[in-house]
Amino acid sequence: FDGMTIVELAKRTGEHVAALQDILINVGESVGSEFDPLSIDIAELIAMEVGASVKRIHTSEGAQILPRPPVVTVMGHVDHGKTSLLDALRQTSVAAKEAGGITQHLGAFVVSMPSGASITFLDTPGHAAFSAMRARGAAVTDIVVLVVAADDGVMPQTLEAVAHAKAANVPIVVAVNKCDKPAANAERVKIQLASEGLLLEEMGGDIQVVEVSAIKKTGLDNLEEALLLQAELMNLKSRVDGPAQAYVVEARLDKGRGPLATAIVKAGTLVCGQHVVVGSEWGRIRAIRDMMGTLTERATPAMPVEIEGLKGLPMAGDDIIVVQSEERARMLSAGRKKKFEKDRLLKISDGAEALKELEE
Ligand code: GDP
Ligand code: MG
Repeated sequence: FDGMTIVELAKRTGEHVAALQDILINVGESVGSEFDPLSIDIAELIAMEVGASVKRIHTSEGAQILPRPPVVTVMGHVDHGKTSLLDALRQTSVAAKEAGGITQHLGAFVVSMPSGASITFLDTPGHAAFSAMRARGAAVTDIVVLVVAADDGVMPQTLEAVAHAKAANVPIVVAVNKCDKPAANAERVKIQLASEGLLLEEMGGDIQVVEVSAIKKTGLDNLEEALLLQAELMNLKSRVDGPAQAYVVEARLDKGRGPLATAIVKAGTLVCGQHVVVGSEWGRIRAIRDMMGTLTERATPAMPVEIEGLKGLPMAGDDIIVVQSEERARMLSAGRKKKFEKDRLLKISDGAEALKELEE
């Protein structure tokens, strides 16, 4: 999209060039030559005004592309040990050991291995969070850890989790949990999973299975290794320099500090002081904190951070984009709010029409 001229945009949206120029004037932007490339922010704004949808494609031409840590979500049946496993993993981090435990609740945490490799875990297990993010188009998760209790075996929500991962095209690593229990039967779990169509590694497929106990803290190293291996196979890389493209994984309102959002950068670098549009909200980043609560100047790919300085509360799954000025941020935010409201009303009227048809 970047670099498109108003003539091209008119062609794509089926509008007259003059009409698009009027929109530009209305938002206080200067109208240059028809052949000047538009900035992506302006292109998005115009497209929204005429009801076209836009997708930002970030080119990484010439930019430095570096390997990045995987972002992992834990899913599985209720009581199979998702929360316990996340707690146990959190404690394996070098940083956590040094600081005597992570006190900050961010909605995501990083496990750093002595080897220097690291893994980012999203802290909200469960399908609701995963689906909500995906519904907003947020492709945050690279790998799903499917937790299955060794004594209970495959249950309805286990299969639901598998369906979610498959639909999102996210690879699975299976953690057979509660292996410390006398009634544990990891073999039975594997057979059940295989009969559900999961191609497990030991049966010639590529889904790794690791036996763990979140309570006894066994097998965690193996699980982390399996995740790093999976990440390596996926060849996860990101552009590091340039404007950040990030997602909100959690947001809350703090009495003193205002709206706070936990964000994970997918590409580029988020820098303190930048103007951002987050979903339909906007702000200027006043502070960035890492998961230890330490102030930092910038956030790089796969690093979960808390950002402060937004004017409103965003939602999990909202995208974060960096814009050039406060005016642009306000403008885009207002444009998106208008579009979201229009979409919402359209949905309601669709619903009302469907209802009317039912009644007739
Ligand atoms: P979630 O609903 O999937 O988040 O499950 P929880 O982490 O809340 O765990 C449910 C119950 O299983 C709790 O009572 C945990 O103490 C217990 N539990 C979790 N992991 C293990 C494990 O590895 N071994 C044993 N024996 N119990 C576990
Ligand atoms: Mg839980």
